[in-house]
Amino acid sequence: MYHHIKKLMYTVNVGTPDPRFGTMLLEQFGGANGELAAAMQYSVQGLNCEDLARKDLLMDIGTEELSHLEVVGTLARMHLKPMKKKDRDAAEADPMIAIAGGGGVNLYNSIGDPWTADYLKITGELDVDLRSNIAAEARAKIVYERLIDYCEDAGSRDALQFLMTREITHMKAFTLALESLGKKPFSIGRISPTPGLVDQYFNDSTGQGEMGETDARGPWNEGNGWEFVNPPALQHGVQHMEQNLSTKSTSALEAEKTMRKKTA
Ligand code: MN
Ligand code: MN
Repeated sequence: MYHHIKKLMYTVNVGTPDPRFGTMLLEQFGGANGELAAAMQYSVQGLNCEDLARKDLLMDIGTEELSHLEVVGTLARMHLKPMKKKDRDAAEADPMIAIAGGGGVNLYNSIGDPWTADYLKITGELDVDLRSNIAAEARAKIVYERLIDYCEDAGSRDALQFLMTREITHMKAFTLALESLGKKPFSIGRISPTPGLVDQYFNDSTGQGEMGETDARGPWNEGNGWEFVNPPALQHGVQHMEQNLSTKSTSALEAEKTMRKKTA
């Protein structure tokens, strides 16, 4: 069951309200990587979870995210408040919030898209869900960081720093929960991947790009049991197209180099 205590998880102070920043904050209220999405994702995953220890983890963090929702909603509302005072400039920061919402927060993102359950990643497979959660926390962290970058108000920055920090805390907890399941790396579900095929890296992007990008090698396609395989599409009789294309792009590059030399 849920219980509400009339106290914010973190005290919010706003020096100068900034309605435009208020609408940016809504990204973390009703946006794809926002607090409602996090709260719902972890809590519903928790309902589905039969591993009681990790169910407890999901419910703990899901509930904390609801408290974050309250903090970020309070912060956004403080910034939107000038809209309540018939301040035309403030209203122009977001006419929908000013006119339809009366300057209050609602479950929309920073450009007014409604919140949707499509934001949630709930698979019913604990390790897969934990991987989604690690990625979700990373996204929430970077969104808070950007909000901090666009904010000059010290009190707001202080609250955002708190919220941003907690996402790293959660990322750590989800990562360690996943590792403690003791699953072999790349082992997902019950059915084994096809031997051989699973270790083939398809070099599906070939040639040289205009930025000078070429075929890169690294631990993602070299060593570690990898077999580096020529593009399957090209193996099926279209090699000549590739050759023509690469000759063309090389001569185009040469022409460009000559042009540059001439202009320099
Ligand atoms: Mn959060
Ligand atoms: Mn979090």
